[in-house]
Amino acid sequence: MIPRKQLIIKGKFVFLQLLNLIYPRRCPLCDKVLPSFSGRTDCRLCEDCEKSVTPLTEPICKKCGKSIFDERSELCGDCIRKPHQFEQGKALWAYKGKVRESMYRFKYRDRQEYASFYARELSKKHGKWIRWKQIDVIVPVPLHKRKKKLRGYNQAELVARELGKRVGIPVRTDVLIRCVDTKPQKEVSGRERKQNLRSAFRMRKTGVQLKNVLVIDDIYTTGSTIDGVAATLKTGGVQRVYFLSVSIGNGY
Ligand SMILES: [Zn+2]
Ligand SMILES: [Zn+2]
Repeated sequence: MIPRKQLIIKGKFVFLQLLNLIYPRRCPLCDKVLPSFSGRTDCRLCEDCEKSVTPLTEPICKKCGKSIFDERSELCGDCIRKPHQFEQGKALWAYKGKVRESMYRFKYRDRQEYASFYARELSKKHGKWIRWKQIDVIVPVPLHKRKKKLRGYNQAELVARELGKRVGIPVRTDVLIRCVDTKPQKEVSGRERKQNLRSAFRMRKTGVQLKNVLVIDDIYTTGSTIDGVAATLKTGGVQRVYFLSVSIGNGY
């Protein structure tokens, strides 16, 4: 007779196989269906992406984490031109190619499961930095409630929750609200967008004094969104604002 423990393990394996048939596990970068024989439940890359995905190339802007061209420079052109409201930020990958497509599916095609993979990579790469910054809480960039209802989820919140579990830092979604449903970036000018975003967020009174906050977003481009969030948090008494983004534009 097969021992009970072995039966349970076998049962679990068969269950996972079935689950894989109904909901095939996909590579979070290229969306290819992954072989199901391993019985693994975590989100992982296919062999091709494992080989080809590269982290941001050095040198990197010390302020926003964008990849820059000139190694004698500490900052990207963007950070030289305008002062930011946040202290520092970092990202995982350049927003291009497979990463860009992955971000699109994560945001608009319901691939919510990618969040655990992004969070795992973020904590692997920047976990030490997070601990060093003595973060009190993690706050995802909020979506306006109309947009959240339409999409069904806030992609930044999914990453924040997974990351919070990994690094053992509480995630707060009640601290900040997006009170204005901002227009897409391409429809407004740079200055208008900045103004737009400055007033787009509002901080809720929580009664807790927050010193260091880590803001999470999926894509960092001009930094206007994070600046809007950081300015609001600081007006509300937060001392230092950092951010982590899954992907980032380049800083050349
Ligand atoms: Zn792949
Ligand atoms: Zn920069």
